[in-house]
This record gives sequence, C-alpha cells and structure tokens, in this order.
Amino acid sequence: MAKKYYITTPIYYANSRLHIGHAYSTIACDVVKKWHTLFGRECFFLTGMDEHGEKIFLSAKEKNIQPQEWVDRMAEDAKKLWKFLNISYDDFIRTTEPRHEKTVQYIFKKIAQKGDIYKGVYSGPYCVSCESYFTEAQVRDAGGNCPDCGRPITEIKREEAYFFRLSKYQTKLLKFYEENPDFLMPKDKANKTLDTVKSGLRDLCLTRQNLEWGIPNPLEEGMTIYVWFDALINYVSAIGYPCNLEKFNEIWPADCHVVGKEIFHFHTVIWPAMLMALDLELPKMVFGHGWWTIKSEKMSKSKGNIITPYEICEKYHPDVLRYFFMREVPFGQDGAFTEQRISERYTSDLANSLGNLFRRVETMCVKYFDGRSPCSGKVNEKFLKKMEKIIQEGEKQILTLKFSRILEGIWEIIDETNAYIEQEKPWTLKKENPQKLQDVMETLLTVLNFLKDVLYPFLPEKSKEMSQHLGFEISKPQARNFPFNKKVPGGEVLFPVEK
Ligand SMILES: [Zn+2]
Repeated sequence: MAKKYYITTPIYYANSRLHIGHAYSTIACDVVKKWHTLFGRECFFLTGMDEHGEKIFLSAKEKNIQPQEWVDRMAEDAKKLWKFLNISYDDFIRTTEPRHEKTVQYIFKKIAQKGDIYKGVYSGPYCVSCESYFTEAQVRDAGGNCPDCGRPITEIKREEAYFFRLSKYQTKLLKFYEENPDFLMPKDKANKTLDTVKSGLRDLCLTRQNLEWGIPNPLEEGMTIYVWFDALINYVSAIGYPCNLEKFNEIWPADCHVVGKEIFHFHTVIWPAMLMALDLELPKMVFGHGWWTIKSEKMSKSKGNIITPYEICEKYHPDVLRYFFMREVPFGQDGAFTEQRISERYTSDLANSLGNLFRRVETMCVKYFDGRSPCSGKVNEKFLKKMEKIIQEGEKQILTLKFSRILEGIWEIIDETNAYIEQEKPWTLKKENPQKLQDVMETLLTVLNFLKDVLYPFLPEKSKEMSQHLGFEISKPQARNFPFNKKVPGGEVLFPVEK
C-alpha cells in the first residue's frame, strides 16, 4: 500500500483562546489535505492540543477548576472552531489521552536504554511563562529578561533532572540538513538553524520536579516530563507508534510539519534528534510560516491584541478568511492583518472578479440558451492550455506550500475570462454569429466548471455553491468540456457587496 501524504499542524497550547494565528497554520494544512484528496491521493492530516505544563495548571487554578476540565473545554472549543472553518482533519490528538501518554513514556524509556537520556543536576535561569530554562548569557543579552517572551526572569532553578543527549547529534543533524536540502523550509529560515547547530548544542533538560500536571517520568517518581518533549511526540503517538506499527508505517514519515517560525527550532533540531535516537525516519520537511502582525506588532495574549476568526467572520464568510490567508502573502513571510486588506481582497478578487464572472455567464446562459449549456460548441484552446498549466504547476506548488502562487494563477484565468467576454461581446454575437456564441458560451462554462473544482481546497463552501449554480458535482480538476445541453440552475450572488 502506498504511503499516505502526512501533514500536521502544531498542537496548540491549551492555555488561551485560539486566534487567527492558529487558524492560519490549520487552514494551510487543510488546503493541502483538500487538494490531495481532490486529486485522488490519500492524505492524513493531524491537528490537536498540547495540554500539559505549568501555564495550563495555573490557568485552571485561576479559574478554580481542575486542569483536566480546563483542557477538555479548550479541546471542545478548538474542535468547534475547526468545524466552523471547514477543516477536514483526520485525527485530533490530545496530549492527555492515554494513547499519547503511553507512547511518551515508552519513548522516554527507549531513549534512556540507548544511553541518550541520563540523570544530572540542572540549575539556571528559568522563565515560568515559557517553561524554559535559558543560559546566563542569553538572559544577560536580553537585559535580564526572557529571550523568548521578554518577561523578567526572576527564578534560578536547581534540581535533579534527566537530560537528553542533544549535543551528541550535532554532526548527524548537520549531515542530514546537507543531504536533505528541502527539509528546512522556506530556505531563508534554514541559515538560522544551521548557525545554531554549528555553534554547538547543549543537552536538553527533560524533566521537572514538583509539577504534577505532566506525564510522569517512568524512571523516577516525583518528576514529570518536560512539556516540549511530550508535545513533539504527538506526531507519532497519534498514528499508532509503537502499538500499531501497521498504521504507523502507512503514514510515517511526515511529509510536512507546518509550524510557526517561533517553534521552528524545536521541530528542526530537537525533534529530528529525538527521532534519530529512536532510529525512526525523519520528516521530509518542516515549514516555518510567518506571523500576522496587528499594527506592526506580533499578536500575543500579553499585548491584548488577539483577534479570533469568529470576530472576522461576523462580517465575512469563513471562506473569505481562508482566501485572504492563502492569497495575501507568500506562505513563510510575515503579513499585516488589517480589515482594510480583507475588505479590498473581498471586493476586488472575490466579488468583482470571481463572483461577477459567475453572474455574467449565468445571465447570458439564461438569456441566450434558455438556462442550458449549448448543444454544440468548441472550447477556446488558449483556455484549455491555461487550465492544464494551472493543474500542472499547482501540483508542484502545493508540495512546497506556494498557496499564493496557485491562487495568482487561478486569478489570471479569471481575469482573462472576464476580458474574453468584453472582447467577444456575446450580446452582439446573438444575431451576427450564433455558432461563435455557442463556442464562447462553451468556453465560459468550461472555465467556470474548472474554477469550482480547483478552488475547492481554498473556498470549500463557496465552491459547493458554485457547483449548485452549475448543476455539476465537484470533482478532480480537469481541462475538459462542459457537457452539452445540461441545465445550469444559477443561484444567488456568490459574494454580495453591501451598498
Ligand atoms: Zn519567557
């Protein structure tokens, strides 16, 4: 059996509301999932929730509830949001599930048996908020603050702990990056990782004392496992490692881990080293996407500038948010999130270009052909070639997550089709050249039919509406003629504009 394409989102940390940043990663993976499925390939899409750690423990305490109850609520909220945004994930892994906890303990023991986990003493500056230890130098450079979140570092911790021998993997990691140039994506993020690894890796502290909200260290009581070690394992625990190796082997290795750039290091250094220690294959690609900034600032709970998808979707259809995310900036770069830009994209791309095209063609179809497709007609070659090109290039672009390039290609054909109507003037052809009118109409319906298919990964609900307008089910995108003498029911305006 062929291996399934395996794509993952990060598992989101269950300590605060999900915002558009989380939706961005998830929508990107969903577009990939829907694209592959549409083209008839099996794809496994995993998302989930990271539910352990001190911050969650404190959040629950603050609300006077048990941590389990807190994370249960957060997981329900997440599933509701993904449903709202039309996300078709195949599994939702939660790190408090027994299937995950067992795998984490198994992996901990297995790496320890290999000698890559050892016991020692750790002491160092510690950021409670990030749940991370830092070196004295890092904290000094950051002016006494946490290098990650900028909050003041007030704690020096010293405790017995278990360590992962990350330092041992420096050479192996560098060799792997060299032999797999597509692993670190996009390319401009690769250098930072290479520099970090070249400058030397410190062994990683893996356990915490006196924190009950975590997976117990299977080798020693009174300790729980570091939340990052726990969380990264979700990518294999969810697909059956080590209990269901048949399933695991159908899916692993991951073809693409989609992550925000702030967690690129964990996925490109620590996770591969863990997998090497386990003698498992490494993922084919880790893609670090950019951030959406709000008035030039990163969105964060502490700044209080968080935007949720629900807020945007009070005004816009969820498909509009999906479209904006995938079109506005190349995946990998940062972008400015403003309502103004969404509104501009909506009006120009969706309402004026795409929506209008459907409306014009449907109107003409009723006017000239009694609401049916013409009985004879030849599709313009130029458009057939264009559609073929979009498919061919799209199939490559989807593998490196070039969503905006795919959409640019699709909007080129939309613009050209609108221009074609202006140029051919079907309203004059009715009398002057009825055969030509049939050809034009056939061309237009063929393009519309293609659009409703190829746009499905990006605009799943709107594509279904388009499909109802055309009276034709969504299927694998192809450059093929619209069938003859078929009823074209039409429908409501796809992207209404308020007057
Ligand atoms: Zn911090």
